[in-house]
Amino acid sequence: MILVIGGAGYIGSHIVKELLEQGRDVIVLDNLTTGKRDAVDPRAELIEADLSDRKVLKELFQSKPIEAVMHFAANSLVGESVNKPYKYYENNVGKTIILLEEMKEANINNFVFSSTAAVYGIPETDLISEDLATKPINPYGRSKLMVEHILEDAFQAHGLNYVTLRYFNAAGAYHTGEIGESHDPETHLIPIILGHLLGERESISVFGTDYPTQDGTCIRDYIHVSDLASAHILAVDALIDKKVDRRVYNLGNGAGYSVKEVIEACQEVTGIQANVVESPRRAGDPAVLVASSKKIRDELNWAAKYDLNAIISSAWNWHKNRTY
Ligand code: UDP
Repeated sequence: MILVIGGAGYIGSHIVKELLEQGRDVIVLDNLTTGKRDAVDPRAELIEADLSDRKVLKELFQSKPIEAVMHFAANSLVGESVNKPYKYYENNVGKTIILLEEMKEANINNFVFSSTAAVYGIPETDLISEDLATKPINPYGRSKLMVEHILEDAFQAHGLNYVTLRYFNAAGAYHTGEIGESHDPETHLIPIILGHLLGERESISVFGTDYPTQDGTCIRDYIHVSDLASAHILAVDALIDKKVDRRVYNLGNGAGYSVKEVIEACQEVTGIQANVVESPRRAGDPAVLVASSKKIRDELNWAAKYDLNAIISSAWNWHKNRTY
């Protein structure tokens, strides 16, 4: 049985579905502040509680045969983290320590942690591998990196086994269109473009057209949320089967697309023209972020299946009929 903390959020809910499809028993714990009840597959038990609620955790760990914990519950808006650092350190770091302590008490030693490309800050090379220096430039990235350090310390101190997954740009939706990306406020490029193409906003802004890239706009590595899901399942199984003990992996497609290329691909998939406004740069955006995912390919035999068009098609399928 696997406990998914933050399983009502965008990425967590997709992993929950994939685990259930594979016949696994899943419990979701989510406080539903940003997560959506409707995103949780009814085959999973949903416990509505905060991950720092020791009483709930103790009861859960005593009553259920939990083999591993996957932790997705975090605040993840870079801009907000700059203005409200305590919120990010408390929710992303402080509460994770409580969870880890309770896991230790209950002798649960397998942990999969959601981290981010934001731990690299503004990298000096374009293709990012895991051994590159971590120099986050905002409290969000720092909060994730702090937990990464804590996990390493916990491994050394008492043998916590963990896999940390550093996501690049997660996008796309479940193939049935039942669940997908829904943030409030929405800040991510693909849902913003698709929302605009559905008439939800008048135009889209391209943040910066003077970057040192081919067309002047930022390049990112977009990865399908279902490819993230398959990586999580390989990771948790590798921990349970004792094939790995502590690992950090990047997760991306290894292919970069500029903001303008993403807009063009959205227009192509939907057949609708966008109204694009060229705007100033957004603070803190590195020009190019592309993952080398060689390590997880080599060690866990993971491979991304979906390209940018498949990502956008699935997101469009969700956006047209979204229920939350
Ligand atoms: N972006 C943009 N307009 C928007 C939202 C995003 O031009 O309305 C750009 C943003 O500056 C970045 C890229 O799209 O270069 C991806 O941004 P997103 O917020 O989706 O992900 P991030 O890379 O910041 O995690």
